[in-house]
Amino acid sequence: MLVHFIFLVKEDDLEKRSWEFEYVSKMAQFYKRWIEKTFSKQVDVLSDQMIVKSGRSFNLVNVPALLEDHRKRGEDIFHFYLTYFRSLWTDCTCEGYFAENFGMVWWERNDIKDDISFLMEKNCVKVSHELAHEFLRQTGNKNYKELVHEVWDKHIFALLPFEYYDENFVKTNKHPIFATIDISDFGL
Ligand SMILES: [Zn+2]
Repeated sequence: MLVHFIFLVKEDDLEKRSWEFEYVSKMAQFYKRWIEKTFSKQVDVLSDQMIVKSGRSFNLVNVPALLEDHRKRGEDIFHFYLTYFRSLWTDCTCEGYFAENFGMVWWERNDIKDDISFLMEKNCVKVSHELAHEFLRQTGNKNYKELVHEVWDKHIFALLPFEYYDENFVKTNKHPIFATIDISDFGL
């Protein structure tokens, strides 16, 4: 299976945000390893940018448009969109959305260049939230929504720490660059 991460970026921001896309490319490799270890599923990953032209077209890119984009690119590929807008459609508690072989999160933006901690704490963790829903669903777990939301609430409201990893994808608490939800309650 292929998991294809797509970073949406406005044309005018392309250069300014290139450091974020570099992070996305590394994060894709990290999630390949995380998915394989967590869900025992072999995946390949790809990362790309979707460049949105200036002007009115900003507002034309929304969740229905991304679902259509997913359909056109091929529904047997897991497309994961990192967007500059929130999903209005969702019952997810992290402002993301998922469907069959489809994920999206609102990728929060920080204008402080190279602030990797911000990307890790704000965005990387949300990616693990949506991936967990969809891979739990694909492994036949009927509680694929509740399980993730229970652990998410513990992270947000009960100070349960995220799981942190270094640039070699090894668990660490020193200088991490990736973070995920705690998966120990999933019974995997
Ligand atoms: Zn959710």
